[in-house]
Formats: sequence, C-alpha cells, structure tokens
Amino acid sequence: MASVELNHIYKVYQGGVKAVNDMTLSINDKEFIVFVGPSGCGKSTTLRMIAGLEEISAGELRIDGRIVNDLTPKDRNIAMVFQNYALYPHMTVYENIAYGLRISRVPKDEIDKKVHEAAKILGIEEYLDRKPKALSGGQRQRVALGRAIVRSPKVFLLDEPLSNLDAKLRGDMRSEISKLHNRLGTTFIYVTHDQTEAMTMGTRIVVMKGGYVQQFDTPKNVYNYPANKFVAGFIGTPQMDFFDGTMKKDGEDVLFSLDNGVEFTCPYGLVDRISTSYMDGAKKICLGIRPDNFLVHEEWMDADKFPYLARVKLNVDIVEVLGGETIIYGYLRDKNGNVYTEKSIRVKTTHDVDVRSGDDIDLAIDLHKIHVFDALTEKSLIQKIPSESTVNITINSQEAKMNKVALKLEKGVSSEVEEGAAQMFIPSDAISFGTGDVKAKVRHSEVVSDKKLYELDVDGNLVFALAEPSVDYKDGEEIKIAIDQSRLSFHQNGKSIEAFNTTDVLSGKLVKSKEYKTYIYEVEGVKLPISQEQCQKLFSAKGKVILKTPLDFKTSAYDLDMTGKDFKGTVTALYDFGKGKKFAKVLLPSGNSLIVKGEDLTINGTVNFSLNMAKTFIIDHTISIILA
Ligand code: ADP
Repeated sequence: MASVELNHIYKVYQGGVKAVNDMTLSINDKEFIVFVGPSGCGKSTTLRMIAGLEEISAGELRIDGRIVNDLTPKDRNIAMVFQNYALYPHMTVYENIAYGLRISRVPKDEIDKKVHEAAKILGIEEYLDRKPKALSGGQRQRVALGRAIVRSPKVFLLDEPLSNLDAKLRGDMRSEISKLHNRLGTTFIYVTHDQTEAMTMGTRIVVMKGGYVQQFDTPKNVYNYPANKFVAGFIGTPQMDFFDGTMKKDGEDVLFSLDNGVEFTCPYGLVDRISTSYMDGAKKICLGIRPDNFLVHEEWMDADKFPYLARVKLNVDIVEVLGGETIIYGYLRDKNGNVYTEKSIRVKTTHDVDVRSGDDIDLAIDLHKIHVFDALTEKSLIQKIPSESTVNITINSQEAKMNKVALKLEKGVSSEVEEGAAQMFIPSDAISFGTGDVKAKVRHSEVVSDKKLYELDVDGNLVFALAEPSVDYKDGEEIKIAIDQSRLSFHQNGKSIEAFNTTDVLSGKLVKSKEYKTYIYEVEGVKLPISQEQCQKLFSAKGKVILKTPLDFKTSAYDLDMTGKDFKGTVTALYDFGKGKKFAKVLLPSGNSLIVKGEDLTINGTVNFSLNMAKTFIIDHTISIILA
C-alpha cells in the first residue's frame, strides 16, 4: 500500500530525446492508474523510472512520501509484471512463483504458504507442477502475476501485460486484474496503448502524447470532458468525428456553420461555457461529435430523452452489423443537399436499423453531447471546470460598464485598457465570496472534483466562480463577490491585453566559490548560498556539466521574501489593484527587471528582497528542464 508522487519528472535519453516532460502526478494509495497513449509517447519510460529500471533525468519521485530516486529497484518495494511474462522455462510454475522469495531467503514453509495463497487467488493451483511451456498465454500471465503477488509489494507496476493474449482472453484477464486489485487493495500502475483497457480498468487514467501528460482524470471525465482534441480522438470507439467551422451567437441561439457546408443551430444555454469571443462567426472552431451522438430516427423519436437535436442528412456508404450494434459510415449532405464526399463520418447505434449502402437517412445530433475545440490550440472549450468567463463591457472613465452595472477599475487595470468596447475575461478562481462589492445572483452550483463550481448572474452575464466546498449558497440567493482585478485580461481593438504577469525569470549559474570553499548560485550577479540537498540534485541531474549550464530562476512576486536583502533594485512602475494588491516593477543593476509585491512602494524608490528558494524553480536554460 502506497502513494506515488511524481514531481516535475523528466527523462532525456542520450542524443537529447525528451521521452518524458515535466510530469507531475499525485497517485493515491490503492488507486488503479492507467497510463495510456500511442506507441512512443513515454508510457513505458515513466513506468520504468518508477520501477527504478531507468534513471530519472530530473525531478523527484516519492513512494509513500519517501524520495526514492536513488534507491535500487529491489529497495523500492514494487513489483513489475511485463508483457512477455519473463518466466524461467526450466522451472515449474511453483518454482517460478517462489523464485524471488527464495533468493531473499524467506523460510521454506512461508514460501509454500505464499505460493499456494497466490495460486489460489489466481486459479492456477492445479498447474503448480507444470513448466511454462505447458501453459496457455493467459495462464502464463497469471504465473507472472503470482510472482509479483507473493512479494506483497507496495506498488504493482504492469507494462502491457495483456498485449500478447488474444482478444477474448484479454477481456477475461482485464476483469481478473481489476478483481485482483480490489482484493489486494494495493496501488496499481498499468501501462497500455489500448484505450478500452484504460477506460475499463483505471480509477484514473493518464493520457499521454509525445512525452507530455494530456489529461489525468477519471475515465468518465476523460470521456465526457476531454481536455483537448487529441484526448477526444484517442478515447472512445469508434473515434469521434471532427468538423472545422465557426459559431455565431444570435440572441439565444448559436449557429454552427461547418466547412463541409452543414449548418445547424444550438441553444446558447448548451454551449454557454464557451467564451462568446468564439461566437463571432469568424473565429475558427472544431466541432467534435462521437458516433454514438449521431442518432438514427428510431432513437430520436424518444424525444423526452433527447430534447435538443439538430437534424442532418446522411448518404450511407457502408453498414457494419456487429450484432448488438451497427456502425453506419456515410457522407453528410450540406445545407443545399449536396453530398460532401471528402470525409466520411461514423454513426453508431444499438437499434435494429434497416439501411443499405446508397440510402439517404435522417440523423439528429444530440446537442447535449457535442464537443467544441479551439481550431488552433486544439484545447477543449467546454471544460468541466471553465477556466474563465467572458463579459462584454464598455470602458468609460475608469469603469467597466456591463449591462446596467459599472465595475470600478483599479489603477493597475485602467492604465492598461482604453476607453470603448472590450471583452473582459474573469478567471473562475479570481472570484472570492462574501467580501466584495459586486452584486451577483446564484444560478446554480455543483461539486466538481474537490471544489464547488458556481454559475453566477452578474448583471445579466454568466460568470463562473470556483469556491471551496464549504462555501454554501442556495440557487437564487443574492450575494456579494470580489474580483481580483490583477487576474483580469481583456480583448480590445483587435488586441489581447494579458492578465498581469507576476512570474519572472532571473538568470544565473552554479559556481564554485573560492571564498566559501563551496558551491553557490550567482543570480543576476548576486551570490546566494545553495542548500546541500539542492546542490546534490543539480549534480545528480547533470553531473559536472552543471557548472557550465546557464540556469533560469523562475519565481512569482507572491513568493519573494520582501524582508530579505540579497537583491537591491529601483522601482520603475507601480501597479495598484486595490484591496492590498500593490505591485512594482523593479529594475536590477544587471539590467533585468522583475515584479515584486509590497505596500510601501514609491516610484524611483529602492527595494530590497530575497528569493525564496523553496518556491523558486531552477531550470536548465538550454533544454528547459526543471532541475530543482
Ligand atoms: P511507449 O511506452 O509509450 O511506447 P517509450 O517510453 O518506450 O514509449 O518511449 C518514449 C520515447 O523514448 C520514444 O521516442 C522512444 O523512441 C524513446 N526511447 C525509449 N527508450 C530509449 C532509449 N533507450 N534510448 C533512446 N531513446 C529511447
């Protein structure tokens, strides 16, 4: 039983291949975590780093709270099960299972007890005297599992354990491994390229691509709220179909115009999580529809179940009857009735339909289930937890006028924006409850993950606010909220005005100090001590090359130590966001500037501060890897 924590883990192979990039995951005790993604995305490398079979290039790995980077595999208290079973052919099943224990000099009677227990759990008691070659693939994989079980590891690591088995056996073994997990109550980490395995077995799944984590969530959330187009396409069979196009808001309707000539309208309420900046009829979006959410006539007749539909016509190409379900491939007809033959789409139905190649059929899109992505970034625009809300405003005399109400803009904001129309973006976590002077009415709230998501009406605008679960207001209640104006961003006159950036990077390096006879940092020309632990981390990540490596010191204004005196600079600009949120831009003697937070700041005044090393990221500048 153990938790597993990955903290900014990287793997760089010789030759510079970054197989795993900045992976930070917190895996709880007893979870069944599945790493899934296409071949070469870094799944096995990650698992092998957890096992201790592959060195970690940078980052921290903890098992049960303890840093294990430098522990050998056998000291990590983990057991690994491989795809190719790795059984000894000359030993019996019994001997194979007992082997690890025998090497560890476990008493014979204890070995015997453990082997029989494991064999019983796995249903292989009657084969204990056989050699592996007299077993089927599924039985061999059970033996491999048995060998792991008898060691009572804290964490089970399984690397594509079922991929050598045929489809039927894979299905059976899938549920057996899930049962085994329930029975042992141990943390399981499982690697597969098969999304069905991931969806059916994982308590949470990690979807990877190109060495990066794309999403880490429950199977249900990954399916219903994919973080981006890649995840949406990778999870779910048959695959989601994608259509480029635009959206245009017209009162309470939104018109989707797809590049394939198909048009339909959707009530705004179903897509109100999407910023209206995407609904101007010009900005490119990508619509995603799963084959299950194209409904055939028999399905949508059940109107109570599907109140929001958009009708489209399909020219059928191929029909695949798979027994319980049918997959229809075909081409959509555009708004003029022409068949769009460039891309075929898939429709999946469990109804008994009588359609043939060449038929024209009526379909309906279940509008509750559509997905929309930014065409450029491919990020999902319908997030489970919307990251921000968009409010249309007019800026006049340092006030942001919404519909009837005006929000007084603090100096730090009003100096950045111009008079006139603008869109204002409010991050969902920039709103606090109970303290402010902005009137809001609760429309609805729901618990999402470990937070509470509120949908608020602020002067006729829908505003999302993320709160702690203890914040408790009823639907319809009139409340007061405060908006952290330093977090606002804007779109005005065709340009984006980004939210105030409180993160800065200082340049430095690690040097050997003659004076102190030890290693120290030199940051923007200032000498700073380094903890022994951090020094060890840097050397273990890079070796001696660390002394020649340019380092970036990334810090936030919120994390600086304003009582410290290491750095001295001159205030060149002040930003006042009200309510005790005052920042200053400080010019250092090196010529570099950074933002600090403080109360008694005056322009041209002198400021002293120190870095809080516990909260500063130290990054290898040349390859962008967080070293400490
Ligand atoms: P997956 O398990 O998702 O198929 P891997 O973790 O095996 O992916 O590989 C991730 C990437 O690292 C791939 O690009 C692969 O070519 C590369 N890679 C794996 N092992 C090595 C190695 N020993 N040396 C160099 N590159 C490697």
